[in-house]
Amino acid sequence: MANAKALEFTIERNSAPVEANERAKLLENPGFGNLFTDHMVVIRWSENLGWHDANIKKRGPIQMNPASSVLHYAQEIFEGMKAYRLADGSTALFRPEENAKRFQASARRMAMPELPVEVFLQSVEKLVEIDRDWFPSVDGGSLYLRPFMFASEVFLGVRPAKEYLYMVIASPAGEYFKSGATAVTIWVSEDYSRAAPGGTGAAKCGGNYAASLVAQAEAIEQHCDQVVFLDAAERRWVEELGGMNLFFVMDDGKLITPPLSGTILPGITRESIIVLAREEGLEVSEEPYSIEQWRGDATSGKLVETFACGTAAVVTSVGMVKSRHGEFTIGSGGPGQLTEKLKSRLVDIQRGLSEDRHDWVKRLF
Ligand SMILES: *Cc1c(COP(=O)(O)O)cnc(C)c1O
Repeated sequence: MANAKALEFTIERNSAPVEANERAKLLENPGFGNLFTDHMVVIRWSENLGWHDANIKKRGPIQMNPASSVLHYAQEIFEGMKAYRLADGSTALFRPEENAKRFQASARRMAMPELPVEVFLQSVEKLVEIDRDWFPSVDGGSLYLRPFMFASEVFLGVRPAKEYLYMVIASPAGEYFKSGATAVTIWVSEDYSRAAPGGTGAAKCGGNYAASLVAQAEAIEQHCDQVVFLDAAERRWVEELGGMNLFFVMDDGKLITPPLSGTILPGITRESIIVLAREEGLEVSEEPYSIEQWRGDATSGKLVETFACGTAAVVTSVGMVKSRHGEFTIGSGGPGQLTEKLKSRLVDIQRGLSEDRHDWVKRLF
């Protein structure tokens, strides 16, 4: 069926793909973000032609002019999503339209052209199909997809570029946290902010990550796994980790998560957890939660669990929080009961093991 918004893709198979034995060996222990498949998607945009020149081809280096504007002014956005092997052997994406829409929202914030939802979906689906032999054999494995777009115009003036490259690469992935993590320890960043009101915090752009790295490095120095950011204005309200949203679980079963006020990335995992928790009959409130409340509630026992969530690591308990003002333990310091329950509710849907009432799972083949 003709679709006005769909693009015609030229597909050129990699004539020298990674050999099957070698690939099988690599897929036994893929780790996260180290290993890449044989192909990639490239689509161009220019002011004159709009979206054009859609290709799937051998993954490889791209030539860049040193004056390409992304290298100077960082007009760049990305997405992160996973393709899963389901229990019945089929392959599926989880809520991919949400990634497509968020990619458009990120583009708008960064004064970039919006890729039609249909083309975004085509691009990831075609890449998963051509690289279908790259699913890891390990438990919890998936094919992590990284769509991204950047300003490719050769120009040093400061204005939105007139040329962009959209690409997708795929990376076989095992569990995100190496230990198969039980609970992580996080560091409260008191010197650095990730996002400010009116800034780019709600856009998935590389620049937000660049701004978070020094704080993440400080966390590692303090023997913590991750950093948590407070709001930039009052340095008081807990916002999110460098790349994951947060939930607080109270002793009466109520869940609190910081509201999407513009400085927090609207996670698809976050939204899915809200829906699943409400289905479980839990009260979920999107309300500001301060660092003092967090410390006080953890100490008094009112707060029983805290967890972080995002596509890469799915759902992970926070066991301990450290800052220059001391540290506090959450619950027993280990994985939380409700956290584990919500995680398996989500993972079971993603893996086709339980009923998909919301039509979240998109089967590909
Ligand atoms: C991607 C991302 C998340 C998680 O979003 P998901 O859609 O759940 O993967 C959370 N915070 C930040 C800053 C992110 O970039």
